[in-house]
Amino acid sequence: LARRVAGFGTTIFTEMSALALERGAINLGQGFPDFPGPSFVKEAATAAIGADINQYAPMPGLPRLRQAVAAQWECDYGRAVDWQREVTITSGATEALCDAMLALLDPGDGVVIFEPAYDAYVPDITLAGGTPLPVRLYPPVADHTAWWFDPVELHAAFARKPTLIILNTPHNPTGKVFTRTELELIAHLCQEYNTIAITDEVYDRLVFDGAAHIPLATLPGMWERTLTLNSAGKTFSVTGWKIGYAVGPAHLNHALRQAHQWVTFATASPLQEAIATALEQASVNGYYRDLLRDYGERRARLEQALETAGLPVLPVEGAYFISADISATGWTDDRAFCRWLTTDIGVAAIPTSVFYSDPASAPCLARFCFAKRLETIDAAAERLAALR
Ligand code: PMP
Ligand code: GLN
Repeated sequence: LARRVAGFGTTIFTEMSALALERGAINLGQGFPDFPGPSFVKEAATAAIGADINQYAPMPGLPRLRQAVAAQWECDYGRAVDWQREVTITSGATEALCDAMLALLDPGDGVVIFEPAYDAYVPDITLAGGTPLPVRLYPPVADHTAWWFDPVELHAAFARKPTLIILNTPHNPTGKVFTRTELELIAHLCQEYNTIAITDEVYDRLVFDGAAHIPLATLPGMWERTLTLNSAGKTFSVTGWKIGYAVGPAHLNHALRQAHQWVTFATASPLQEAIATALEQASVNGYYRDLLRDYGERRARLEQALETAGLPVLPVEGAYFISADISATGWTDDRAFCRWLTTDIGVAAIPTSVFYSDPASAPCLARFCFAKRLETIDAAAERLAALR
């Protein structure tokens, strides 16, 4: 193994999904829906294949999809986006994240991340030779009703003059949605230290209880220094399609494309065509409203199941995961707990400590995914009742 990958190990999602499959556990670990994607989107893919949209797409993406993404930005945020120079289609947000690190980091460059951090960030930074600069998110306590960070710690990370910050909102695994005040501080620091922001907004449509998703790029002075990443996999419940996109100023799209052209060159044409249809129709057919209603129901059902099982839940404002406090079970090692829960109780979850640079210092939590049919959640609830 080359040194750059030698330390990577196996992702927690591969590990826990394999264990769930082997033990016949209900998989609330890896985040993916167990219900079908919407018919209007699947039919568009079938039609695109039938219409022989089956050869290489242009390197930056099919024009129709880039136009649909640009139109959505104009509609949602009132920003006119140049679809030719300011939008790039990638093979999922995963590819876009890695491309962005490869394209924007030189060896030794610092990257601020909030931890717990989605598991790809540190490996992507490392692949590009960069240095992660973690800033803690703390669980809600006392007068903090949501996960929070200490501005002093964020200032200290920026004082190391980072090249980039990766900001994930709505946040995986915590469900935190960054507030305007928090975003204003981040925007201020980016401008003060000339730092570029890579924002991972794959859960932008899944925001609950009146919380609002605000793209960092829409704050004053931020468009020019922000690349916003998204994924159709989450919004349209087709995680296996791997259609992602990046929106931002031409200079950052140019950088991203310098990596993208050698990593995958282009992304599956018929699926790009289908996601163009999805974006065009979803803005008029009520899809987003229905998506949110259904997810609200799933979230409530899983919260109830976990609370009933004696696993107190932390508040969730966005994305499709619930963090539950496992300390009352007597387990102190969340990884051991999640393995045991999978093998002995028959419900798979993800240990939160894997998302920290120092797992030993992480709070004792497990992450449960509610992108599941209500019947799946009910079946999990029955098994979790054994914890009482
Ligand atoms: N970022 C976050 C926060 C995610 O949760 C995920 C996937 N679950 C991704 C990126 C990757 O997205 P994709 O499947 O489009 O590669
Ligand atoms: N993003 C998904 C999650 O957090 C997993 C994606 C993957 O398996 N790489 O569960």
